[in-house]
Amino acid sequence: MIKRRGFCGSTLAALASPMPLSRLLASATAPISGDLAAISGAGKQILLAKSDVEDLRAGLRGALLLSGDGGYDQARRLWNGAFDRHPALIARCAGAADVRLAVNFARAHDLLVAVRGGGHSFAGQSVCDRGLMIDLSPMKGIRVDPLAKTASVAPGVLLGEFDREAQSFGLATTAGTVSHTGVSGLTLGGGFGRLCRKFGLAVDNLEAVDIVTADGSFRRASSHENQDLFWGVRGGGGNFGVVTSLEFRLHPVGPTLLGGSLQYSWEHAREVLPFLAAFAKDAPDEINTDLFLTKLPDGQRVVGVDICYCGDLAAGERVIAPLRAVRKPMIDTLRPTPYVELQKQDDEMLRHGRGYYIKSGFLDRLDAPLIDEAIARYESSPLPELDLLFVHHGGAVARLPNDATAFSHRAARHTIIIEARWDDPAEAEKNMEWARRIWPSFEPYTDGFYVNELSFDESERRIRATYGSSYDRLVALKNRYDPTNLFRLNANVKPRGASTQIATDIVSADLVVATA
Ligand code: FAD
Repeated sequence: MIKRRGFCGSTLAALASPMPLSRLLASATAPISGDLAAISGAGKQILLAKSDVEDLRAGLRGALLLSGDGGYDQARRLWNGAFDRHPALIARCAGAADVRLAVNFARAHDLLVAVRGGGHSFAGQSVCDRGLMIDLSPMKGIRVDPLAKTASVAPGVLLGEFDREAQSFGLATTAGTVSHTGVSGLTLGGGFGRLCRKFGLAVDNLEAVDIVTADGSFRRASSHENQDLFWGVRGGGGNFGVVTSLEFRLHPVGPTLLGGSLQYSWEHAREVLPFLAAFAKDAPDEINTDLFLTKLPDGQRVVGVDICYCGDLAAGERVIAPLRAVRKPMIDTLRPTPYVELQKQDDEMLRHGRGYYIKSGFLDRLDAPLIDEAIARYESSPLPELDLLFVHHGGAVARLPNDATAFSHRAARHTIIIEARWDDPAEAEKNMEWARRIWPSFEPYTDGFYVNELSFDESERRIRATYGSSYDRLVALKNRYDPTNLFRLNANVKPRGASTQIATDIVSADLVVATA
């Protein structure tokens, strides 16, 4: 749920994989030379027999990539350039049958498993060292039914691809705010975005999923079938299996919305921020206002608000008028804009391959003490690209009962995010250190965090606490659908009796922190 400003303009340059499917699947693989060293979920060294690996390769419709194969290095890379991991095997799945084969292989060999949809895990959990990466990115199908206002989406689809198909019929549903993020990972954790105050979270618009659970079974989960599992996948992330299809409800949207950002001089921060916070509290559902503290490319600090009004354009102009009046913005990009363009405004700033680190938490209020703290901490930061964000929640998200889905932070008014970005690996340590240093000033104001914003060094205590009252029910589901914790690279819900070792310990040693 990261969005802001767009001073880089909108660009498609960073959109991943504009390749046709035939090229996505084609890879030059070398014959397998011998048994393969790998690692189990609990971190033990294991050896995979050459014949077993050959059988897996022969059984897949997509490619099985090993180190040295063409396409291996491209497939293992994630959006977050801070991670440089080398799976023993990458199964480039072409469909649900490939997913079942890969899951069965992993379970039979007790392999460490990472599941990759759009590859935007902040914590780098969709790739692992020496395990099996189940790569869903070749699965790109999207079918929109404009009459029923529904869409069926494959797990390798990116938000921009989904928005484009749906918007060609004047439809959309809640999606995140950076178009190269994956639909599947974003949805399974909850799914905030520019439209969520009007239409609810992405999971609130999910009607069904197909899922391959740890035993290799292919199941349908909806409000009619496997209801317990359907509850769990809507906020429980990838804990229960690999989702191979998602069905969404769509809504008429735009195609032109009122969107963009207003940015104000830092000297007015103490006046403008409380005003924006008060505005957000009582705002109508049609408007989403995310606040940010950032630095312009010339180093000047600004305070700003990213705005999207989903409704009548003239009514939107009236609603946002006070935001232009509180102080004259020094930058004003707010104007009628095609929704698909709005969704790309931060694509370039948050492009693939840079290093990223975040700390975040839900807030039930944004009032004076926290605002003062934010301004003071932000002023003390020497970093050129460390931002503080307050992402707007409420509206339709807050109107469902807290136990309607496994996502259980519906009363939150905002999320606070500290986001550090860098290009040079030599800057990584300094950026992460600064974010960690100021986080204790904010953590006491928070209540849990969004599981899709897990950082790689998150504490076990905080992960458990964030599921709140849903935790016991999630553990019961985990016991039933993934009792050996095959799917552990996520904000992990541990089955009863599981070891406390979490695989993030195993895979976090190779963070790219210095120039090679
Ligand atoms: P991946 O890295 O592919 O997957 C992340 C995890 O999700 C995997 O480790 C796996 O556990 C699970 N997973 C993914 N696909 C499947 C599947 N098919 N079956 C089972 N498990 C699966 N979040 C918001 O809510 N709103 C936003 O506006 C928003 N903006 C973002 C912008 C950027 C630039 C980034 C990097 C993240 C943003 N996020 C946002 C957070 C985002 O929701 C998570 O990073 C999410 O995990 C991305 O999904 P993905 O498929 O791209 O990631």
